[in-house]
Amino acid sequence: MSYIIVFILGSIWGSFSNVCIHRMPYNEGVAKGRSYCPNCKKQIRWYDNVPIFSYVILKAKCRDCSAKISIKYLLVELICALSFVWFFYLFGLSLTTLLFFILTIFFIIIFFIDLKHFIIPNELTFPLMVIGLVKTFDPNLNQYLFPNFFNSVIGGVAGYSIIWMIIFIYKKLRNKEGMGLGDAKLLSAIGFWFGWISIPFILFFSSFVALALAIPSLIDKSKNLSSQIPFGPYLVLGCVLYLLLLEKIILYLN
Ligand SMILES: [Zn+2]
Repeated sequence: MSYIIVFILGSIWGSFSNVCIHRMPYNEGVAKGRSYCPNCKKQIRWYDNVPIFSYVILKAKCRDCSAKISIKYLLVELICALSFVWFFYLFGLSLTTLLFFILTIFFIIIFFIDLKHFIIPNELTFPLMVIGLVKTFDPNLNQYLFPNFFNSVIGGVAGYSIIWMIIFIYKKLRNKEGMGLGDAKLLSAIGFWFGWISIPFILFFSSFVALALAIPSLIDKSKNLSSQIPFGPYLVLGCVLYLLLLEKIILYLN
């Protein structure tokens, strides 16, 4: 029963994430006004705004103009709901679970905004940094998972500096920007959350995923190596891979 409640809670936050993904890049207020159809601009009725459920009932079409509703809405709600259930399964009713709920929401919003707009808003990375640092003051959190204060600060500084240096060197060599400072702030936030030790792993994992996904389009020449890529989504995926690996290590240690 509690898993069903957590699933519903996750899908509601997933629905809220959808609103952020679609409004934040345009500086539209997240809390302002009801959701509307991007095609006919008609307000969405409350009973058509139920996460996951409405998407299925409406068969992915707007009730007013029958415009197709992107599967991305459903995906975001499902990913959020399933992640919530997963963390609740791992850590039960605890501060750790709450922290991972928050991280899930931020990661989902960052992933989809950066993927489409090539930006990571400071409104997302700055709060993540603060939460990552503040949580180190709770001594009861899992010490393998979350670093102590100094480790966290070093992680935050290292995460920012490394990407800043990559940008700097890349600019000197090729006279253009490969990554943005948004990526630096995101890796800094991750450093604050998981400590300096996470930085090399996550850089490695995210570069690996980025390269693996880029190979098909490099082969058919639709992109070349100098094409700009949004690196934020890869950092998010890299961090998820790191956490999965860490979970295995922690289980092994226990
Ligand atoms: Zn419509």
